[in-house]
Amino acid sequence: MKKVLVAGGAGFLGSHLCDRLLNRTDIEKLVVVDNLWTGREANISHIRDPRFQFVRSDVENLQTSDKFDEVYHLASPASPPWYMKEPKRTISANLIGAFRLLDLLKKGGRFCFTSSSEVYGDPLVSPQPESYKGQVDCTGPRSSYDESKRCTESLLFEMQRTQGLDVKIVRPFNVYGPRTRPDDGRAVSNFVAQALTGRPITVFGDGLQSRSWGYVDDIIDGFARYFWMNETDYRGPLNVGNDREIAVLEVAQYISRLMGGIPIVFEPSPPHDPTNRRPDLTNANYVMPEWSCAISYEEGVAKTLDWFRQDMKITAAEVAEAGSRRLAKAGR
Ligand code: UDP
Repeated sequence: MKKVLVAGGAGFLGSHLCDRLLNRTDIEKLVVVDNLWTGREANISHIRDPRFQFVRSDVENLQTSDKFDEVYHLASPASPPWYMKEPKRTISANLIGAFRLLDLLKKGGRFCFTSSSEVYGDPLVSPQPESYKGQVDCTGPRSSYDESKRCTESLLFEMQRTQGLDVKIVRPFNVYGPRTRPDDGRAVSNFVAQALTGRPITVFGDGLQSRSWGYVDDIIDGFARYFWMNETDYRGPLNVGNDREIAVLEVAQYISRLMGGIPIVFEPSPPHDPTNRRPDLTNANYVMPEWSCAISYEEGVAKTLDWFRQDMKITAAEVAEAGSRRLAKAGR
């Protein structure tokens, strides 16, 4: 029976991973450490399992005498406005967090890390294979996130190389879906929260920049398959994403239409906003041939809207009222 630690387990991805872990019968204890910086207690409040324990703490300072068979490191903000606001804290959570978590791993245990497609920066190659070194600026405003993901990968792969550490690293691409914070600030959650509260949808730049949007259930399914896999000769980082690349403006227009014609406004681009992002899934298809992203962005966005409507406790009547206020303001 295994003891498992999930750092960042009250976050968007971490909490979905915990739900999957608790379906396993070979786990006797699942500890979540989270400081609730970007995570939310509401993401784990449905869990009633006696094996589950929540510790509110920075991962870097986690106090415990336990050692764990499996450690999952997801403790990091992932939304640009959040990590840009607190770069030092972001670097600390990723890198110093990894150092602390390595201390807590049993000998022979497995360390799983959620890196990011941000390690490719603003890519000049599309789609991006894991072997692409990326185009990242270590002096730029996104560097606290990009470079701390890269440096943590470096730490873990060097531990694998020099000490035989059992390491599994995934690079997710633009994940969205239920349990994102309404004030998260990333594209899909922003658009949905804006549409539900009758505010215009903010598209940064011309909206022609593209991303590969992955619905959370598909992405977590990929994580679980890879993280729990014992029989594989693949040792590198693994892209996990949906390889259908869609322009930001198209997503905004889709959400606008779904919500009865919410206006779209254009705002300046955030600094160093990547122009494109799309995973090369050759390795993912080799490692887990039975896995694929089954949920289209149209279906995923509709599911996300439903979830946000409930989470924000917004009734259909309130949505309609916000819509008529908007029309009245526009003088129609
Ligand atoms: N974006 C946007 N409006 C928003 C939030 C984001 O147009 O309200 C754009 C952003 O500039 C970027 C894309 O959507 O081009 C994806 O941004 P997100 O923050 O979701 O992820 P990341 O930039 O990390 O890929």
